[in-house]
Amino acid sequence: MKIRYFTPRNIETLEPWRRLPREIRDDLQVVSQVLPFRVNNYVTDQLIDWQRGIDDPIFQLTILQKGLLPEEAFERVRRALRDGWSAERRAALVAEIRRSLNPDVDTNSADIPALEDEPVPGVQHKFRDTCLIFPAHGQTCHAYCTFCFRWPQFVEDAGVRYATDASHRFQRYVRDHPELTDLLFTGGDPMTMNARHLRAYLEPFLAPEFDHIQTLRIGTKSLAYWPYRFVTDSDADAVLRLFDEITGAGKQLAIMAHYNHGRELSTPIAQEALRRVQRTGAIVRTQSPLVRHINDDPAVLAHLWTEQVRLGCVPYALFVERLTGASRHFALPLERAWRIFRDAYEAAPGLARTVRGPLMSTYYGKVLVEGVAEGQGEPVFVLSLVRSRRPEWTRRPFFARYDSAARWLDELRPADGSATFFFQEPDIIQGAGRGLQRAAAGGPG
Ligand SMILES: *Cc1c(COP(=O)(O)O)cnc(C)c1O
Ligand code: SF4
Repeated sequence: MKIRYFTPRNIETLEPWRRLPREIRDDLQVVSQVLPFRVNNYVTDQLIDWQRGIDDPIFQLTILQKGLLPEEAFERVRRALRDGWSAERRAALVAEIRRSLNPDVDTNSADIPALEDEPVPGVQHKFRDTCLIFPAHGQTCHAYCTFCFRWPQFVEDAGVRYATDASHRFQRYVRDHPELTDLLFTGGDPMTMNARHLRAYLEPFLAPEFDHIQTLRIGTKSLAYWPYRFVTDSDADAVLRLFDEITGAGKQLAIMAHYNHGRELSTPIAQEALRRVQRTGAIVRTQSPLVRHINDDPAVLAHLWTEQVRLGCVPYALFVERLTGASRHFALPLERAWRIFRDAYEAAPGLARTVRGPLMSTYYGKVLVEGVAEGQGEPVFVLSLVRSRRPEWTRRPFFARYDSAARWLDELRPADGSATFFFQEPDIIQGAGRGLQRAAAGGPG
């Protein structure tokens, strides 16, 4: 199977698309001025249920629609197109709207490490033992998720792109940091790289000078969006040989697979891709954000995790949707997210309960919403950091005032009336700068 991409330019050549009402098709042309759009022939032929159209979860996952933009922004872009604005005027409008969508890909400068006082591009080192690496050749995806928090890097503003440079200085950085045990390759999707590039990024870490590295993780959506990557692509076997070599060298290879809905696991090719990856000795761990219109239903999540266990995957994380891009359409209140998670967890088999969530990936670390409990006569949120930039903060429960509408940590207030949570020390807050609690983190979200 050869990959073919549909973009705003050629989507009208797609048969089932042309059968949709004119209005829905026009809406995509408007919204795609602002948000990135790209989908491939596997997603359109085998995953989307076109009968259900806009109500289909995979349609919601990949196809732009009117509700993703604030109404006013949508109308302004629609009018600009209708009235034939010059490219320049349109670009200014689009840039303004993008800024208003709270782009948050920028990483806190404190987390970009340095070598000899020079920043090491494409690395983010926040937690002692684990660092993120953004390979320059893997900063795109086989299709774009409508809720992606890395969306700004897929639209024109190349300035927001965050990736390694040709010098590969990240290798020296890793060599010189023996406290590192885990490298997490992320993007975009590193599995969009060809086998040769992938090898150039991974193989060096098999050398003896990297004995401190126990685990190579790859964050990827390819098992869901383009399983042919591991089966019939011309270099599929070369990729699997590389995986074999990594596990054969005694390293743990963890494929952090991004699946949002059980349908992504249902096709024969998706299951074959999984089997082939697993046969190399790689462990497939799974993660997803919890997203309205796609998987905000305990039955859908329980099914997703149950299927993953049946297919030999290890459910790992359920994230809270970040407040960026199209979050107005997708985000859920934290309480609702917790209730959905809890009901799904209750319905899932024991082996699926390795999944953690709902998790907010914040500047301070990964905040777990343990749930809502009765405090002194009043409900409170119970939270903790399962991962934090200061190890001593880990898993210390803390409490936030009950707020049924709060969707993110910065919409919560400490239950005891303090101005800040215990981990929000002034020096840390100052260092946080822009994107205070939402610094970019870990890969295919
Ligand atoms: C999530 C994340 C990791 C990985 O954390 P684990 O708990 O080991 O999965 C590493 N670095 C950053 C910056 C992260 O956000
Ligand atoms: S959410 Fe992940 S897989 Fe989806 S477009 Fe963004 S980076 Fe790519």
